[in-house]
Amino acid sequence: MPSCPTGHHSRATDFCDVCGLRLQAYTPAPVPPQPHRQQYPQPPPPRSVPPPAPPAPSPPAARSSAAPRGGPCPECKTPRAGRFCEECGYDFASQSGAHQRRHSGAGSGGSGAYWRAVVAADPAYYQYMVDQGMLDPAQISFPSNNRQRRVSLKGDRVHIGRRSASRGFTPEIDLGGPGGDPAISHIHAILVAQPGDTWALVDPGSTNGTTINGTANPIAHNVEVPLRPSDRIYVGAWTVIILQKG
Ligand SMILES: [Zn+2]
Ligand SMILES: [Zn+2]
Repeated sequence: MPSCPTGHHSRATDFCDVCGLRLQAYTPAPVPPQPHRQQYPQPPPPRSVPPPAPPAPSPPAARSSAAPRGGPCPECKTPRAGRFCEECGYDFASQSGAHQRRHSGAGSGGSGAYWRAVVAADPAYYQYMVDQGMLDPAQISFPSNNRQRRVSLKGDRVHIGRRSASRGFTPEIDLGGPGGDPAISHIHAILVAQPGDTWALVDPGSTNGTTINGTANPIAHNVEVPLRPSDRIYVGAWTVIILQKG
């Protein structure tokens, strides 16, 4: 049977009926980035590494067309690639749009745990991106007014992205706007409340990727990566998002 990358038992064979992640043919679950203790500026390898190998084709998977169950995103018609719509952040698991968050789950603080995200511009990460040739310092300069922000993590999901007037959506962690980080996708990543007052991170397909704690490679798209307090999420040209609990 195909299996959920996070280990759920799913009766559906295309997407996990617990979490909505795309199921993978016989291969074992990809190991989420290991407890990550490396920090910038220790240089991770270049980001041009090939993506993880696709699951080995298995005999029954010959009908590989992988037609998404339920069709494309009901809000923007983008083909489904995982739990969240890469374009608009629609949550196929709870069948709700990015602006329709539920106020339940870990983020509601039921047990008193309180999580926040500290958003800042990290000069070491910016320099790393310059050194790797990922951005042109002549065109993208480090922000001069580097102010930290704190965002409380509430509800069942917290979106990291950039505001869009045309879409009428501003993510809870908005990295766009004047002076914003230019390398952020509209829906870049999503913090997902987990049982037991914890959070996981999903990158639904951002253009420039998401890394955690300065480890080498961007996290795989559409895989929930568990987070711990003090974890650092790196996105865009210079943004670091540090998780704090309590
Ligand atoms: Zn699952
Ligand atoms: Zn959508």
